[in-house]
Amino acid sequence: MREVFLTIICLIAFSCSKDKDNGTTSIKEYSFGESNSELMYKDSDDVSEITSSDLRYEIGKIIRVKPIDNFTIEVANFAPIDLEDIKILAQIDGIDQQLNFFKINKINAHATKQVRYSFLDEGTLFNSTTGEKIDLTEYKESGIGTENITFNFSGDSEILTKLKSLNKLNWEIKWHDYNLYNDPNDKWKLDIAPKDARRLSGLMINLGYILVSKEFEQEFLNEVIFDNEKDTLNQTEKELVFNKLLDLDYFQVGIPTTTSGRGGAPYVFGLAEHILNGYMTSPERPFTWIAVHEIGHMLGYYHDSNMTYPSPRYPTPEEEANGIYPQGISEVGTRIAELLQTRGDFIVTPNNYYKPEDFTDNSSRNKRHFHVLGACDTD
Ligand SMILES: [Zn+2]
Repeated sequence: MREVFLTIICLIAFSCSKDKDNGTTSIKEYSFGESNSELMYKDSDDVSEITSSDLRYEIGKIIRVKPIDNFTIEVANFAPIDLEDIKILAQIDGIDQQLNFFKINKINAHATKQVRYSFLDEGTLFNSTTGEKIDLTEYKESGIGTENITFNFSGDSEILTKLKSLNKLNWEIKWHDYNLYNDPNDKWKLDIAPKDARRLSGLMINLGYILVSKEFEQEFLNEVIFDNEKDTLNQTEKELVFNKLLDLDYFQVGIPTTTSGRGGAPYVFGLAEHILNGYMTSPERPFTWIAVHEIGHMLGYYHDSNMTYPSPRYPTPEEEANGIYPQGISEVGTRIAELLQTRGDFIVTPNNYYKPEDFTDNSSRNKRHFHVLGACDTD
């Protein structure tokens, strides 16, 4: 009896190890830190590097994995914060399953690194997200064509879940030098600086996070909104405008110097130095108030519509007595920014931003500039 029992145990052990030999999937793990990755937006980078179209990215894929050639991919973190425990998923043409491709244990803020596909030199068996085993042996010689693979990221932490929620936005982002001939009298800054790109990368994340919140959608749909002809939008029309806002496909971002913001259809977007400096300490005003005004311009609205300035912009004492208060997209945005700030919900904060020295403490100056510069201009 005892012998039979031992034989059974051996058989189980043998069959397990055999199964393992034939089909073990392993997931490659990486950490991209100071010693083994490059940094984007270094102080030594010149304007052409910062504004390069290679650095155009989707806000919904803040961890960008991009094929460079059939054998090499590039990983980049477009957030100004260190991130941990990220799963990278791959979709390969001809394979109807998404693969758990590799894991990033840690990636520094703005780190970027090129790596070879792990299956070229190591295991070829991967798990799909539905638990099936997929063998990539057939790609060992040829690699994978750059057109035939796409990547996405996933993760369970609170911060990754928040970053992932930005995929409701269709926005692609690129920093832009609008003052190409360095005209000192231009309405745009001479050259966009690495520090500007670093701060803007966090600003766009927090702005996007306001707009994808359930509360923004609800309050926008409840707000009185009127168009350039001063016609009040009905519920369906407001839903349409809200979806267009999520669906904007490109933000070409610069730094205006003569106004706090600039915006124009379809992709001109700019916020001034004092907004970049103050967006974390005072996210409501002027930052969100101005930023959503400019988005209103990107959507084709002028100052005749309260998709830019609220209406009434300055309520009279009589209006206030009658409960009339400013309404418009900038008011909705400001209220939601205040809510997120109160509950400590913003993604990029002074506690996780990787270069605190990018911000100078001039919070008292923000409001003065806000009035001196005025809110906005169209382009
Ligand atoms: Zn305006």
